[in-house]
Amino acid sequence: MTAPLKFSKMITETELAKRVKELGAEITEIARKEPVIAVCILKGSFIFFSDLVRHIEADIATEFLGTASYGNSMKSSGEVKLTLDLTNSIEGKTVILIEDIIDTGLTMDFLTKTLAARKPKRLLTCSLLFKPEALKTSFKPDYVGFKIPNDFVIGYGLDYQGFYRNLPYIARVESLQ
Ligand code: 5GP
Repeated sequence: MTAPLKFSKMITETELAKRVKELGAEITEIARKEPVIAVCILKGSFIFFSDLVRHIEADIATEFLGTASYGNSMKSSGEVKLTLDLTNSIEGKTVILIEDIIDTGLTMDFLTKTLAARKPKRLLTCSLLFKPEALKTSFKPDYVGFKIPNDFVIGYGLDYQGFYRNLPYIARVESLQ
């Protein structure tokens, strides 16, 4: 185990459940009109994704994309490595990338450029959390769960050095003890 963290609840289980249901309803509207491939961006999105897809009331395909950013600090390095690729072609398909958090935007910038080269019909993005003040690119997600301040957060899939993903709520890290 890493050094214990001091953290406080930022977004409760109830708030998460309500907002995720609303996002599911928005994506349902698209998925009823055209076939959609929902892509879970691993690892951080696995809990959000599994809750979200259960609120999409239409037939969707699911895919998984593994990403890792270099370094393990509380700062995004912006250097992304693909650790697991999609299993099927996305050419001519409507794709929605499901991300946990957008900080500098460098990861989504990289991923959307990488996937756009595979010629999807439409590439949409949905992020549970978005830190507008931290953005260093012009990237803007199509769907956002919550805009949050420029704090480091953990829980509901988000980690600190591989831990805390299993917290059922989003917490703000106060300081290292
Ligand atoms: P970006 O490339 O937008 O700066 O950051 C994206 C990635 O950095 C996220 O997918 C996540 O892995 C990590 N990240 C950015 N901010 C946070 C945060 O507040 N908490 C955690 N746990 N990870 C973060």
